[in-house]
Amino acid sequence: MYNRLKILYQLQMIDDQLDNLEELRGDLPNAVKELEEKIKSFKEEIADMEKEQKKSLKTRSTNETEIEKLAENQKKFKSQLYQVRNNKEYDALTKEIDHTEGQIKKLEKENDQLADLSKRLTEQIEEIKPTLKELKVELKAKEADLKEIIKVNEKEETKLRKERKEIEAEVKKQDNSAYKRIRKAKKGKAVATIKRSACSGCHNIVPSQRQLEIRQNNRLFFCEYCGRILVSSEISEDVEV
Ligand SMILES: [Zn+2]
Repeated sequence: MYNRLKILYQLQMIDDQLDNLEELRGDLPNAVKELEEKIKSFKEEIADMEKEQKKSLKTRSTNETEIEKLAENQKKFKSQLYQVRNNKEYDALTKEIDHTEGQIKKLEKENDQLADLSKRLTEQIEEIKPTLKELKVELKAKEADLKEIIKVNEKEETKLRKERKEIEAEVKKQDNSAYKRIRKAKKGKAVATIKRSACSGCHNIVPSQRQLEIRQNNRLFFCEYCGRILVSSEISEDVEV
């Protein structure tokens, strides 16, 4: 039992050190993630606008072909005007000419609008580009900072992770799940010890009868205030030395 309690305390010690390393990274991992997301969203925005521009260009080209065809017809109709034999034919032709004229105007208007839209999109894209560039520079700097911090502690972290793995393999399954649950709820510390008659996790006084029981090191005790696993100072001193 003594060993079972001791490895739990060892696990906590290692996690404390790993937490400290994590803390050194500060807000950098989050900042990098946020920047990556922002950059991605700007890139998507630009891609959408460029897609819209391509679509507009294609429609305009189709419209232009159509306009040319209509203009050819128009020319033909106009030349036929000189060959009409009666009013009925004349009316039919002028009607065709007017209709074609209307179609041409409609397509030209649509093309003007599409050209305007494309221009506005280009302006918007040009507005975003400098911001995107700044964000990329910022990301590069933050990534470099983070990499540096990770590199400095890499050896220590690898060593700790290896130790942790070995110790965790020795922890009883039920103890490990309790440890994980408490560690999550308490944001880090799952195992506490008794310091000056108090729980080192929440600093509440542990009743002396309970202290005596804990000192026996023969079962798992939980702090009645914070719920952390409580081990005797004998164990904590044993591990910390
Ligand atoms: Zn406590």
